[in-house]
Amino acid sequence: MDLFEYQGKRFFSSYGIPTSEGEVVEKVEDAVEVAKKVGFPAVVKAQVQVGGRGKAGGIKLVNSEEEASSAARAILGMDIKGHLVKRVWIEHASDIEKEYYVSVTLDRGAKDHLILVSSQGGVEIEEVAASNPEAIKRLHVNPIDGLTEDEARQLVADADVDLQAREGVVEVLLKLYRAYVDGDADLVEINPLILTTSGKVHALDAKVTLDDNAAFRHPEWEEFRATQELDGREKLAKEKHLTYIGLDGSVGIIANGAGLAMSTLDVVNQVGGSAANFLDLGGGAGADVMAAALEVINTDENVRSVLINVFGGITRCDQVAIGIVDALQRVDIQSPLVVRLDGTHAQEGREILLSHGSDKVQVEATMIEAAKKAVALAGGER
Ligand code: GDP
Ligand code: MN
Repeated sequence: MDLFEYQGKRFFSSYGIPTSEGEVVEKVEDAVEVAKKVGFPAVVKAQVQVGGRGKAGGIKLVNSEEEASSAARAILGMDIKGHLVKRVWIEHASDIEKEYYVSVTLDRGAKDHLILVSSQGGVEIEEVAASNPEAIKRLHVNPIDGLTEDEARQLVADADVDLQAREGVVEVLLKLYRAYVDGDADLVEINPLILTTSGKVHALDAKVTLDDNAAFRHPEWEEFRATQELDGREKLAKEKHLTYIGLDGSVGIIANGAGLAMSTLDVVNQVGGSAANFLDLGGGAGADVMAAALEVINTDENVRSVLINVFGGITRCDQVAIGIVDALQRVDIQSPLVVRLDGTHAQEGREILLSHGSDKVQVEATMIEAAKKAVALAGGER
């Protein structure tokens, strides 16, 4: 789960990382009240889960009630890279001396935590990585050993953080690492972490991704979840207990097992197509689950064909086929289906599908052939 900035700041401050006091509001009048309360100059910030809000005009410094009002009016309802702004966060503006970047994330390849520190903060880190990679210092941390104060200090020095900010940045980094581990995050990023003109080190932005697998031990995440913006399809998939992630291609994907679902995306790509989604049916693939999956994919108007890729292990392919036939009676599917069944009772499954005789359903024996067919039906490359 990705947090909004205001939630990320709440998360950070619960671990002792300094942030500015502020409030999140949905109305222009409330924005003015909060701006008065935090004091001018204040900053009005769009709350959307996308970076580069500053450049997109979603962040404005205001010096009066009138300015606060017009800034809030301009930003609320704004579309930032396809995200509608429903809330703004208002805090007292900080006087910036320097901007830094710090983050902790999981490096799956290295099986370690990865800490990044840069004295070139404030701009997108990808830009720094491209134009000046030397300016980003990295430290892999073994999860069992954790991060020591000496290591943090060395990293901050290597990154050339200004002397007067070093103690403060080290302190934030240690707390950030703690927040990341104890808070069960996959990513914590502060960009910019600032040195103020009065010499304080302070988080000006917050980007946090929490590990949903750890939700069971964090009842306090409920308040974060309440404002998560799932689109209609994601909501529907969630209600149906399907693992669904929307993508922007044209081939709808249904597979059983996350590994097979991912391989299916790869194969679709390999033959020149693009997947409209990731969808893992999970364990069983009976009629209910299949109908639910088709229902979810059916609401995606970018979908031109659907590729069902099932490997029968404990799940028997004849049951899956019955599920598909049954589901087709319940869901008025808009796109042609290409089905590949393999494994337990695959032959029986294929026969059931063929005897069903729907012109909507085509059966292919291999994953690659099925992908080619689905991509061709989707109109080839996009
Ligand atoms: P992002 O563009 O979505 O990453 O939003 P940020 O919260 O990182 O803000 C972008 C930029 O706006 C920062 O790098 C700052 O330069 C500027 N900014 C944000 N808050 C303040 C503030 O309180 N004072 C000043 N002077 N600038 C700010
Ligand atoms: Mn930022």
